[in-house]
Amino acid sequence: MNYFSTDFKLGILGGGQLGKMLLFDTRKFDIQTYVLDPSDEAPCKIACNQFFKGDLMDFETVYNFGKKVDVLTFEIELVNLEALVKLEDEGVKVYPSPKTLKLIQNKGIQKDFYIQHAIPTANYKRFKNLKSLIVDILDSKTKLPFVWKCTEFGYDGNGVKVIRQISDLDNLANVECIAEEMVPFKNELAVIVCRNPSGEIKTYPVVEMEFHPEANQVEYVICPARIDDNIAEKARAIALNVSEKFNHVGLLAVEMFQTEDDEILVNEVAPRPHNSGHYSIEASYTSQFENHLRAILNLPLGNTDSKVAGIMVNLSGEEGYSGDVVYQNIEKILGWNGVTPHIYGKKQTRPFRKMGHVTIVNQNINEARRIAEDVKNTIRVIS
Ligand code: ADP
Repeated sequence: MNYFSTDFKLGILGGGQLGKMLLFDTRKFDIQTYVLDPSDEAPCKIACNQFFKGDLMDFETVYNFGKKVDVLTFEIELVNLEALVKLEDEGVKVYPSPKTLKLIQNKGIQKDFYIQHAIPTANYKRFKNLKSLIVDILDSKTKLPFVWKCTEFGYDGNGVKVIRQISDLDNLANVECIAEEMVPFKNELAVIVCRNPSGEIKTYPVVEMEFHPEANQVEYVICPARIDDNIAEKARAIALNVSEKFNHVGLLAVEMFQTEDDEILVNEVAPRPHNSGHYSIEASYTSQFENHLRAILNLPLGNTDSKVAGIMVNLSGEEGYSGDVVYQNIEKILGWNGVTPHIYGKKQTRPFRKMGHVTIVNQNINEARRIAEDVKNTIRVIS
């Protein structure tokens, strides 16, 4: 199939920042795109060829949208799965496949998958709702502390809570959930694996993630991770194994914990471009977005090596500010070497809303980390 400067249409479910960054590459290759998103102000709106407004969880909406395109992909996992299955049955290429998505959409099913395939992961127990979890705790079968996770519709840490005492469960929704053992980890690592339908497979280098203690959102992504080579090799091998077991197409971001004993445990995966790969736009030979595109179109994959050390700082809305966004001091950081802000195009800021990110590249990773901290302390996302 000829994709370039033709009538071929790539459909993208979700019109957020991940889609917007993917569209830089569809523009580069002159590939036509259709985007579906519920918001009139979706970041993708300015960069796709046709924008459709609609509910991503609605069967008819997703199905009708899918019928208009040749290949369908998604930038968010919360999409109507039944519609994807039907579209695939009717010959639309859907990547990653609905089969992979089904295993990932529900954290309980995802964890069971790791156990079935002997992939190392933290111990857990599944519960059909909060009430049955509480009964289990009262029967002393589930021990405190543990990490509560709702199995569906959690995002960016909002469906995750550390439970140290039973009252920490107050106000949690009475939904299906898992109770997971607390992992004493030294580092949170991630590896992005890229695979095309022909089976060509590549991994990006292991990155290290530093989290905001309150919001549970990534603050810094550091590439390469500052860990021993043998740990990095182990993490890469586990990520490759996970990807092979899922038999996925496109990108698979594998998030892992490096424990105090240097064990690697898989936390969760995302079958799409990922926050932990944004650094690749500036620091890698081929960005994660270009490689996602190459993978789902069954084109040869690009070089995943880095040209330079890269660090990403998330730009999240500051607490106490809601309304029209202002990126205070952005001119200042633009004056520094190797610093590139990405502004997602969301007009309104809210506390912890992901509004953009900044990439810092430098030949020296320690210098990059120092600049990243200066960036973090200088730029403010306020209203
Ligand atoms: P989300 O899907 O919302 O990103 P995660 O499962 O990645 O949720 O959890 C968010 C964060 O919570 C993780 O990045 C990690 O910092 C912490 N966390 C999750 N599971 C555990 C665990 N078992 N032990 C300790 N910390 C955890």
